[in-house]
Amino acid sequence: MSQGIVEEFLSLKAETDADLLMMQCGDFYELFADDAETVADELDLTISQKSSHGSSYPMAGVPLSELTPYLTALVERGYRVAVADQFDAEDGSKYREITRLASPGTLVETTDDDAQYLAAVVEGKSGEYGLAFADITTGRFLVTAVDGADAASAELYRFAPTELLPGPEVRTDDPLLSRLQERLDATHTLRPSDEFGPGRARHRVRERFGESTLESIGLDHDSPAVQAAGAILAYVDDTGLGVSAAMSRLQHYRPDDHLDLDATTQRNLELVETMQGGSEGALFDTIDATVSSPGRRLLREWITRPRRDQELLARRHDAVESLASAALAREALRDCLDDAYDLERLASRAASGSADAGDLLAVKQTLAVLPALEDAIDDTPLATSPLPDVLAKPDRAAAADLREELDAAIRDDPPKTVTQGGIFREGYDEELDELIERHEELERFLDTLADREKREHGLSHVTVDRNKTDGYYIQVGKSVADQVPEHYREVKTLKNSKRFVTDELEEKEREIMRVEEARGELEYELFEELRERVAARAELLQDAGRAIAEVDALASLADHAARNDWTRPELTDGDALHVEAGRHPVVETTTEFVPNDLHLDRDRRFLIVTGPNMSGKSTYMRQAALITLLAQAGSFVPARSAEVGLVDGIYTRVGALDELAQGRSTFMVEMQELSNILHSATEDSLVILDEVGRGTATYDGISIAWAATEYLHNEVRAKTLFATHYHELTTLADHLEGVANVHVAVDGEPGEGNDVTFLRTVRDGPTDRSYGIHVADLAGVPGPVVDRAGDVLDRLREEKAIEARGSGGDGETKQAVFDLSSGSFAGATSAGQPSGGAADTTPETVGDGGGVEGEAVDPEAADVLEELDGTDVAEISPIELMQRVEEWQSRLDE
Ligand code: ADP
Ligand code: MG
Repeated sequence: MSQGIVEEFLSLKAETDADLLMMQCGDFYELFADDAETVADELDLTISQKSSHGSSYPMAGVPLSELTPYLTALVERGYRVAVADQFDAEDGSKYREITRLASPGTLVETTDDDAQYLAAVVEGKSGEYGLAFADITTGRFLVTAVDGADAASAELYRFAPTELLPGPEVRTDDPLLSRLQERLDATHTLRPSDEFGPGRARHRVRERFGESTLESIGLDHDSPAVQAAGAILAYVDDTGLGVSAAMSRLQHYRPDDHLDLDATTQRNLELVETMQGGSEGALFDTIDATVSSPGRRLLREWITRPRRDQELLARRHDAVESLASAALAREALRDCLDDAYDLERLASRAASGSADAGDLLAVKQTLAVLPALEDAIDDTPLATSPLPDVLAKPDRAAAADLREELDAAIRDDPPKTVTQGGIFREGYDEELDELIERHEELERFLDTLADREKREHGLSHVTVDRNKTDGYYIQVGKSVADQVPEHYREVKTLKNSKRFVTDELEEKEREIMRVEEARGELEYELFEELRERVAARAELLQDAGRAIAEVDALASLADHAARNDWTRPELTDGDALHVEAGRHPVVETTTEFVPNDLHLDRDRRFLIVTGPNMSGKSTYMRQAALITLLAQAGSFVPARSAEVGLVDGIYTRVGALDELAQGRSTFMVEMQELSNILHSATEDSLVILDEVGRGTATYDGISIAWAATEYLHNEVRAKTLFATHYHELTTLADHLEGVANVHVAVDGEPGEGNDVTFLRTVRDGPTDRSYGIHVADLAGVPGPVVDRAGDVLDRLREEKAIEARGSGGDGETKQAVFDLSSGSFAGATSAGQPSGGAADTTPETVGDGGGVEGEAVDPEAADVLEELDGTDVAEISPIELMQRVEEWQSRLDE
């Protein structure tokens, strides 16, 4: 390699904004300097040194044939990689040019079955955001515009793009950017600002999809969605693969078509990923029984983008119902689906020119799945389901034509390469047939030549063969080499034989070379034409692929429903959510689950859920959200029966304390998200609040929880489930008409031994708050302490001021008052003067001053009492509680 290679590499590298450059040098793609180090680290390549102009550079390389796997591995790790190919200059020297840019959002060779979205987000006027999502591996291209940064990040989270193009304004919007960086596992790629410009973007979109596209998909000319779409088109074109050809349709969707699910809710509900980050144990993983990757992608889309359209959902439910009850027909359908390949991806491969003959054969086979599915449906109970309509959606006549065309063209066992012939059937092309015939004739001539020569010239030991250097030759054994006829010309002498040629052989050789070349060229030409014709029908293939995916997704829902005894939800446009014997769809697969009822409607729209730690409050509430979500994804639900009033959105928030344990959240974030819920939820929404307010000191927290409850109940009027350890909130049920209490029942009577059993049954009414005192009693806390605790509790319940007891001395008695109307505590002295509001002290303070009431308590006992009072039984585990009680006992014994 010449001296200038490293310089050439570095100057090409300076031309691109890619993270890495792979540059062809002969039979290798090489990387130098920092790039070499990075790749060596990531992919375990060996580093060597390359010296250039007196300096030495690290160098790493991969053989040409290994480019794809290495490129794919690097891109899947999040790198953007430029590829420079080597060309011959006129003067015979070599030069290199960047021919391709591969990035996480534009990789056609992906090894992953999941959707691979490239997203762009643009901020428009007055807080509107334009979003575009393109999956170049399937040709899906969606745009929308949403209000506000929260809605934008919620949509982005739903699509989980692998690469994001933030628009110029978004790049300087630090809060949004950092939120996206934190939540999405996407490479951020900064493109030139002018590619996001409205005029330029509009032009690109029209150029690509036609002058009247925007009108026909109902998109405003100046919508930022157009800017996002334009930026994506510009980027995809820049990658140097013709893949944008498969992006044959621009689809505009309105956020209103789908259930609002903010990013936090999607995460809290563990739709496709658990809080820990894995997919195992998430809803999607639990219910996914699809047999094909397009089916899997579609089902995932249904789960992350539930709908609000009652008619559409009823059709899905109809289909799932028929499929669930017709087990045999369902299995027959799923068997047919086994033969289906990924048509959407095949269409993209055809468009980018990377499809080989085997891929076109796969297209043919998959198109045959449509009529096979139809046959499997005929004469079964499925014939009256919506499935025949699903299969009728793609243009079936066109599909049959394409299938026949491919069938007539491609042999059943085509070769992997597309340049060496052997692809096409006889009769496909006359000229090709002639060439093949001539080729075979010549081959036959050469095959039989040795025999003929033996016979004609009385020679033994004759073979005819060809190699690279000598071409065709007649090889004769040494013993008879001197008997060859005159017209044999010797070309080589070997140890045991001699090689000869003749004029005739040379002429045939020239001809066979000519025919071979012509045949190869013609086949390749014919193949490219055929591939282009397939690419031109990308829309048909996408429609057909989609129909097959839909059958797969529906059958998967039915399969899971049948196996797990799920039931068809009754969807209404009312406000009610009535669930009989509901279960949590994920927990029920691993646990002996205790089913629970749930009743929410306009008059009972706000449930305060109480119960001790680990009793099942969070599970109960998530179950309500997931049943609603599944119903609106078109699925059956885990319940004996369910009436689900369609909701426009689901909002959940888990208190910061619970999340803090996982090192995820802060109280500030908790409040921001609460604020988002209070702003975004409507009376048609479902809101789940789990221990909100817990992340701060008691008085603050309870005040926030109180006020949020009032606001949600009075102003937003959303259906709400609120689990709280602030028992005080349960009194709200007496004051607000739509608020009711439920609690998770606990079994554990004093005197029955130490067993406290969580029944996990949800019952009406607040939890029995003396639960903690029972535990204290069970554990042997001295009688006076238990009695006094009961006394304090009664006072609290009656919302009376509590006088703290002291012993000896002359300290004043302190009072704490819980004021229901304001929802806060006020401290008061015995003189009745307020001593200031939200202090971080416990409601009832034990002074160490003079005792006035009841029997005197010694200082140690007073301390214990104070600690007992300050102990929140809902906040600590039973074990810890036992330990504390034990400690108190030993202190009291002294
Ligand atoms: P809480 O929110 O009240 O602290 P969780 O909802 O986190 O309680 O549930 C605690 C444990 O109990 C979890 O492991 C959960 O799987 C299990 N669990 C909850 N509800 C049920 C139920 N109805 N049947 C069986 N197990 C349940
Ligand atoms: Mg909980």
